[in-house]
Amino acid sequence: MASPFPLLRAITRTSSVTGTPMKTPHVSLRVSSSRTLSVVTAAAGSRGEARSTPHNPPRICIVGGGFGGLYTALRLDGLSWPAPTPSSTSQQRTTSSALSKANITLVDAGDRFVFKPLMYELLTGEAKRDEVAPLFADLLDGTDVNFARASVTGVTMEPDDGGIVHLDDETSIPFDYLVVALGNKPRTEMVPGARSSCLTFSSLEDVDASIEALDLARAAKATPRVAVVGGGVGGAELAAAIATRDGNAFDVTLLCRDPTGVMPTSPSQLRDHVSGVLRCLDVTVRAGASVTSVAGDGEVTLSFGGEADDETYDVVFWCAGQEPATTPVSSLVDSDNSLPVGGAGAPPLEVNPALQATAHPRVFAIGDIAQVASDGRGGGGGGFAESRTAQVAFQQSDYVAWNVWALHYGRPLLPFRYQHLGEMLALGPGEGAVAFPQLPEPLGDALGTLLDGWAAGVLRKAAYVYRQPTNGQRLRVLEAWARRPELWLPPGVSSGSARL
Ligand SMILES: Cc1cc2nc3c(=O)[nH]c(=O)nc-3n(C[C@H](O)[C@H](O)[C@H](O)COP(=O)(O)OP(=O)(O)OC[C@H]3O[C@@H](n4cnc5c(N)ncnc54)[C@H](O)[C@@H]3O)c2cc1C
Repeated sequence: MASPFPLLRAITRTSSVTGTPMKTPHVSLRVSSSRTLSVVTAAAGSRGEARSTPHNPPRICIVGGGFGGLYTALRLDGLSWPAPTPSSTSQQRTTSSALSKANITLVDAGDRFVFKPLMYELLTGEAKRDEVAPLFADLLDGTDVNFARASVTGVTMEPDDGGIVHLDDETSIPFDYLVVALGNKPRTEMVPGARSSCLTFSSLEDVDASIEALDLARAAKATPRVAVVGGGVGGAELAAAIATRDGNAFDVTLLCRDPTGVMPTSPSQLRDHVSGVLRCLDVTVRAGASVTSVAGDGEVTLSFGGEADDETYDVVFWCAGQEPATTPVSSLVDSDNSLPVGGAGAPPLEVNPALQATAHPRVFAIGDIAQVASDGRGGGGGGFAESRTAQVAFQQSDYVAWNVWALHYGRPLLPFRYQHLGEMLALGPGEGAVAFPQLPEPLGDALGTLLDGWAAGVLRKAAYVYRQPTNGQRLRVLEAWARRPELWLPPGVSSGSARL
């Protein structure tokens, strides 16, 4: 069927590069907690597709279309790829006037990009699905980026070359350069029963499942008891969103393992503010409560002050910890030239400061799945190795796009430098908190470091409109939100907003 978007070439069954379906036998299997992943050895099939001299324009495959992957694809699409001059040798020159676009393919298991920081607005009903999770087809319309909707099942690497990405529909994509941006997922294997008995809040499917579970609980009981396990930023935001849903219909408890309470690693001013907001929303915060198991009937076993305790909830959310989503790649090109694909508990993909996989120069990793090597080859990222945020992934996309281009033309790669722009939280409709980075004096003194309440909520929304991946989506969100003044007006003025 012809694509409604002429420039968006869906390649779900055919390699966009060769125009012919490529089938490669899967020769070994490794397991993942959420999807079955396979590893294909280099000996299996299309080895000849990768060449020691990259194609020009190069074939770039980006796996994962979240903050890291989608933004990298869009930036790569904006670059020109001059053809090498006839005199070019191993280091291709960029002096030719014959400019062309790279052959970029973005692969994602879903058909929508999810602007995850706005997922709470889906739960509270403040935002609509297309505003938070637009279709890739719409976002990539007007670009030359190919999109393949499929799950990545494995990658075959050539030691000094590119490789082949294998998809669950038995097709494959040969590449000269690979960008791995598969993100993280909640770490539910931490305690018995968490995976089978808890909801998570990390994907669009999770939002749908959460709304369904909360509605069911509400239909069965006037004031359902909800537990959110994990007192980090995500747990605190989720607790606030649930507490304000359906006219404060839920009795919410936030279980924090840290004895000091919520968000132990955040600045103290921000923590105090969030604790105060949660108190106003009647969220019970149990500091020092370490969950040891969860049963199917909602029974949560805790260790609290050294004593075991059992509590029963109608709905339990797991927001404690995260791990690579599906394809943690610790060291590329192992003994059988395959890209190791791990499951639960596998480490992230090790990169150098230029975000290049330490074990393979043609592979880059970005976002939640990337980890700077701990042996001294990494570092220099301004602490980004510890952060798993959209802010980091978004900033990395500029560097990765540039570094792929630079590697292709034999130019020096840029080490990633993280610029911390502060922390922004949603705390229920009409409420937010923004912690600014330490500003130099006298600016820091005049402005302070924390903005809260309605003004913070408005600033956060404005920032997220600005951060939308394309101008088209920016405009769509702006138009939709402009028609809903309750999103911008102070709670006293707007009848639809919650008051603290
Ligand atoms: C509820 C929530 C709120 C958040 N709020 C904030 C915030 O306010 N500020 C902030 O900075 N950060 C926030 N974050 C964190 C932020 O969203 C992540 O750090 C960021 O999305 C990481 O980008 P990424 O590209 O690494 O991964 P993701 O954006 O998660 O994208 C990964 C993509 O890979 C795809 N994928 C995974 N496995 C496969 C496979 N095998 N095959 C094909 N595709 C696959 C997924 O479908 C997904 O689209 C929030 C996260 C959540 C869950």
